[in-house]
Amino acid sequence: MPTPNPSSSSVAAICELARPRPDGWHFRKDSPRRSQWAAERLETVRASLACCELCAHRCRVNRLKGPAGLCHAGATARVFSAQLEVGDELELVPAFALALSGCNLRCGFCISGAESWQAEAGGSLDAAGLAAQAGLALARGAKSVLLLGGEPAIHLPSVLEIVAALPDDARLVLKTNGFSSALARSWMENLFDVWVVDYKFGQNDCARRLAQVSDYAAVVRENLIWARDHSELIVRHVLLPGHLDCCWRPVAAWLAGNLPGIKVSLRAGYWPAWQAQRFPELRQTVAIEEHEAATAIAREHRLRLIP
Ligand code: SF4
Repeated sequence: MPTPNPSSSSVAAICELARPRPDGWHFRKDSPRRSQWAAERLETVRASLACCELCAHRCRVNRLKGPAGLCHAGATARVFSAQLEVGDELELVPAFALALSGCNLRCGFCISGAESWQAEAGGSLDAAGLAAQAGLALARGAKSVLLLGGEPAIHLPSVLEIVAALPDDARLVLKTNGFSSALARSWMENLFDVWVVDYKFGQNDCARRLAQVSDYAAVVRENLIWARDHSELIVRHVLLPGHLDCCWRPVAAWLAGNLPGIKVSLRAGYWPAWQAQRFPELRQTVAIEEHEAATAIAREHRLRLIP
């Protein structure tokens, strides 16, 4: 992945101007109108894209001018899927799931790789229309509205635009890869009822090789602890074939030691999608024996597995 080049005095000046102060700026749980709060903040958050630090890559590029940064995303999100889904954790489904194109990771095995790697994929965002669809789904029995990607947090202004249009009492779920910056998460405080965080890799080496990302573990762990302290949290781990000992075992041990009692969703449905053929061990599905061994590791660490 190429490294952005933010080194100029003009970039520094824009960054200083673009960054709103996050202190005391978050949505309060006792505030009556989440939609109004989101509507009032979205232009300020959009202005921060002039020097984007929405995720831990902290590219400091100007996304208001067009697609930029490691995510190659511009100022407005595009939508590649908006539909009722039943494949997520049982306590969340059926959910009206809204998927935004573009991501800050480059997982070679991504199940929605074409849309996740390309922020320009999908259709334009119509917040009012999507909110109407979500409202209809909720009225017909959907339990929650799920925002996912790609990575939704890289599109925080568009996320706020959607939240501003949604009913205030909708149960909002953020499905994220946990690679947000401290700045972005401070703006998302209390905005979502549930964070579902994909804790994908137990080793930075695996994260670097499979998702082209550095410093993965420290960032995700910091965000997981923050999410536990600020919302309901479900930690999801998709078992990767051949990554039981390097990834699941250390993830399980860390969760047991640092987030005891947290809900853990251990998923065995890996499918070799997108560019998985580039990685020999990822060319097959997870063997039954591997799934059984993963469950035994969860039991050994007394993890609270949820369906
Ligand atoms: S969201 Fe992350 S990857 Fe994208 S431009 Fe901003 S800091 Fe870079």
